Amino acid sequence: MSHKRPTVAFIGTGVMGAAMARHLLDAGYPLVVFNRTKAKAEPLLDAGAIWAGSAGEAASMADVTITMVGYPRDVEEVYLAPGGIIDQAPDGALLVDMTTSTPTLAVRIAEAAAARGLAALDAPVSGGDVGARNATLTIMVGGDAAAYERALPLFEVMGKTVTLMGGPGAGQHTKMANQIGIAGTMLGLIEALQYAKAAGLDLARVHAALSGGGANSWSWGAYGPRILAGDFAPGFYVKHFVKDLRIALDEARTLGLALPGLGLAERLYARLHESGGAELGTHALWLLYERGEQAAPVDHAGD
Ligand code: NAP
Repeated sequence: MSHKRPTVAFIGTGVMGAAMARHLLDAGYPLVVFNRTKAKAEPLLDAGAIWAGSAGEAASMADVTITMVGYPRDVEEVYLAPGGIIDQAPDGALLVDMTTSTPTLAVRIAEAAAARGLAALDAPVSGGDVGARNATLTIMVGGDAAAYERALPLFEVMGKTVTLMGGPGAGQHTKMANQIGIAGTMLGLIEALQYAKAAGLDLARVHAALSGGGANSWSWGAYGPRILAGDFAPGFYVKHFVKDLRIALDEARTLGLALPGLGLAERLYARLHESGGAELGTHALWLLYERGEQAAPVDHAGD
């Protein structure tokens, strides 16, 4: 059967993309890969993927192109720059951006793709590095139903809960709602454990006891144990969460919606980012509180 599967180009083989691409390879999809730093694609190449010299070249070799890069500027570059994916994808190809990016850029890409006879979806994910490794991601999709049906077998290889949310940009809007929710659960996790520590409680016992209670959340379960172990490696980079919180604040402003809790999370994470935490995982917000820097006035232009 595997020879009948469409060839997939996968651009961006970092923390998330490498694991997601590996599932596609294991499921029998012929895979072409490109990543800015080639070393991060080596395990996939060793497992049988083919290297391409650029994002556009990878797309030119594939029926479906999937991108999982870092920031909206990276998405814009790989899709819309001269010689990029839109320029080089073969007629009729399907393009799927799984990066957390802006709804506006998703609409621009969908329009540019349609003008060239290509189909495009925005399909950001939730579930973290663990979800990528275990193929249990939640995938939120924006685009038309026919393109969604084409992509669904691939989504089902990488994720568990896959939902078409609406037209272009609807996946990214849904992801922003998710990030707003996570901003709250991360602050809840950190502040609950900080309080327990200040009260002289045993943190491991508090974490275990409350795991069956109302304070439990995905963040509580995924990141509590890493905080207790003093392991602040990403996971989910602080630099990417700051990006997401700012996209969400911008979109809320455009919608005329005040979200003060989101604003507070952005200020705290911006402070962590500026004090050397950009490359740590989001649960490293714990360290800001450990240093007593959460109480200092944080004044950010983005607020
Ligand atoms: P990451 O490890 O930084 O992966 C991004 C990869 O894209 C990197 O390997 C990077 O190359 C590559 N890249 C960036 N620009 C490129 C370009 N122009 N051409 C080719 N490759 C390019 O980040 P990640 O944690 O996998 O996250 C990826 C996206 O998923 C982000 O938007 C993030 O917000 C989102 N996300 C992450 C998580 C999570 O828990 N980690 C969960 C949900 C969503 P280099 O190797 O050179 O840096």
